[in-house]
Amino acid sequence: MDHLTAAWIDGVAVSSSATFDVLNPATGEVVAPAADADRATIDQAIDVASRAFEEWRSVPAVDRAEQIRQWADLLDAKAEELAAIATAESGKLFREARGEVGAGTAALRWAADMAVKPQRTDLPAPSETRQHFTASQPVGVVACITPWNFPIAAVLVKVGAAIAAGCTVVVKPSEETPFVALAIAQLSAEAGLPPGVVNVVPTSTPAEFGNAIAESKTVRAVSFTGSTRVGKLLYEQCAGTMKRLSLELGGNAPFIVFADADIDRAVDDAVNARFYNNGQICVGANRFFIHEDVYDEFSQGLAARVRELQPGDGTDERSDVGPLINRRAKDHFTSLLNNAVDAGAEVLAGCIDKDPESLFVQPTVLGNVNPEMDVYTKEIFGPMACLYSFGDSDDAVALANDTDAGLAAYAYSEDHAFLADVGAQLEAGVVGLNTTQIFASDLPFGGTKESGFGREHGEDCLDEFLETKSFSVEMGRKSE
Ligand code: NAD
Repeated sequence: MDHLTAAWIDGVAVSSSATFDVLNPATGEVVAPAADADRATIDQAIDVASRAFEEWRSVPAVDRAEQIRQWADLLDAKAEELAAIATAESGKLFREARGEVGAGTAALRWAADMAVKPQRTDLPAPSETRQHFTASQPVGVVACITPWNFPIAAVLVKVGAAIAAGCTVVVKPSEETPFVALAIAQLSAEAGLPPGVVNVVPTSTPAEFGNAIAESKTVRAVSFTGSTRVGKLLYEQCAGTMKRLSLELGGNAPFIVFADADIDRAVDDAVNARFYNNGQICVGANRFFIHEDVYDEFSQGLAARVRELQPGDGTDERSDVGPLINRRAKDHFTSLLNNAVDAGAEVLAGCIDKDPESLFVQPTVLGNVNPEMDVYTKEIFGPMACLYSFGDSDDAVALANDTDAGLAAYAYSEDHAFLADVGAQLEAGVVGLNTTQIFASDLPFGGTKESGFGREHGEDCLDEFLETKSFSVEMGRKSE
């Protein structure tokens, strides 16, 4: 698929004289230059979305839902092409990118279903002649800011819920992965969504976009997925115009294995929870707390599995993990690894930077890790599992909660009543008990503490983009 490289505004491509190169992290080659939207282009996209909102909000919900479903069908039909673009720009495995299209279109269809849920609520009448009821109305233009690690699903989850609610959107994809977002927007037009409902502006200066949307009185909500650092900045910036915000931010997920856990299952799930998407995932298990009685069995089992993981180009079916996204990510990974090893961590699988030039790193397991090391507090965002040992179950829960982040948490035990109690104590928005399958359309997803607020998926996913209007209607009162 020849993919769009210019901004997509009002149903047409809008090029600009400035461009920035998007690199394939697996090869270092330029995928293509992307049009670099300046402030005027960003403002134009906001204006267009604002005009389109006036029409789109009046389209009956059933018709909006139908158009969204048609878009989902078209995206599914183009899944291979979309996945190929995402693999080229993000380095992720083609099969994982392909799966991401399915997850994204499932989110679109779910949002379409939620759009036709009854929204008006009649309340008990306060008198014989008066009625009270509420109605939900779309907030207006929504700015969506998305990360590179899920360049397809992050866009579709946000845009689906926003436009199903009757809002219009301006999306700013990560500068690492603008092309698949542009392709998705272009297909929205082909599927029949009206011009101006879905707009995408790539830019190499994200702060410019942040300033534009924060200052705009027209943008009424911001849906952001990314780092806690940028989330906090947007929170501050958006206070000036009092916007609705939903912030899906960084994590530091604990993965607790109690003494009576099914160790084979825990090892299987640990591989998934740490090495899926090459560990570049917000819900990735960042700190493994393993009971001392099963520490050797678990650590040996996990190390054996991880030694088999082959890093490689995402287009190669034999690859188990792709490259890290960029040089900054590689430096971060190397510095965390060196810090831990210098302080006494044991390398159970992997090695210290075999090839400093490349963005590929060997999937790694570290034993003997302790809370003094940088890996305890920092989000690793790479293929490194860090194992801590504990003796007392209460200590494990306290350690798990000893973080400013609160996105995901996992725990393993065959005593289900005990596990339910642990689950209740874990400070996280999403908890996996004997499972890492924590994504489902009907399961709300989002963080607590500094992992942000707001929920995606779930029955109430449109609420982030709706306002409740309360009506009090007098039908019996006549003027004298
Ligand atoms: P990032 O914060 O650097 O970038 C995220 C997005 O914000 C990008 O589009 C970027 O261009 C934009 N951005 C950067 N500075 C900005 C500014 N000043 N104003 C407006 N936008 C700005 O994060 P990243 O490196 O792309 O993604 C990794 C982070 O995202 C990790 O911390 C990860 O945990 C988090 N993440 C969270 C979730 C979740 O659902 N909670 C999901 C995926 C990723």
